[in-house]
Amino acid sequence: MKIFKNLDIEIPENIGKNFLTAIMGGHLNKQIEEMLYEKTNVCIESMSPKLIFDKYEIDKIVGDKVYFNSGNIFTGPNVSRILKNSETAIIFVQTLGSRIDELITEESKKGDTLSAIIMDAITTNLLECLGKASSKIIKAEGIKKESWGSTCSYSPGQFKWTIEEQKEIFSMISPDKIGVKLNASFLMEPFKSSSGVYGFGPSELISKIKIACEICPKKDCIGRKTADS
Ligand code: SF4
Repeated sequence: MKIFKNLDIEIPENIGKNFLTAIMGGHLNKQIEEMLYEKTNVCIESMSPKLIFDKYEIDKIVGDKVYFNSGNIFTGPNVSRILKNSETAIIFVQTLGSRIDELITEESKKGDTLSAIIMDAITTNLLECLGKASSKIIKAEGIKKESWGSTCSYSPGQFKWTIEEQKEIFSMISPDKIGVKLNASFLMEPFKSSSGVYGFGPSELISKIKIACEICPKKDCIGRKTADS
């Protein structure tokens, strides 16, 4: 099991702006733009990005089920499709830390809904930036042969992989070591956390799906991404 704390993440200019503009119906006024700038600094200073992961050998994939040598099983049509022909998998959890959640809750309690929405948009994008940094580390660990490649990542809660499968992920790694726990609804706390799996195996055999959004039917999703975004 590997743990990385205080990860260096690349943060683009105007982080949160596109997502917030979509939430606000396509336009940000000057006051919101100023708040976005101010809250971006607060969010960046308050985050403490961490990653934990471990590698597992895949025994077989039969129908919707992925069987690991460890005895663990993932169930779902898309996760089994993405992991098809992978020989190993890396299971991960990453988080921006609890301070971000506390700040958003404080703004909500004060009745400052706008600040809470802005900080939520910024930190949603920060979690994606963390995902990119984690992805590099995980792929360097998983791609052990020149002829090997990596699948895209897939997460419980994405289309046709039930959120309850978080329980299986949490039994395979120990996210409490980076301060992440599961609540009764199988959601992670801190909320600005994410989990998932990457598969690894011969490049010509493993799934060519570049990003989970490619196989998601939610066409009007404002979070939809392409492999290049
Ligand atoms: S389209 Fe939206 S809901 Fe579907 S995988 Fe992408 S971000 Fe998630």
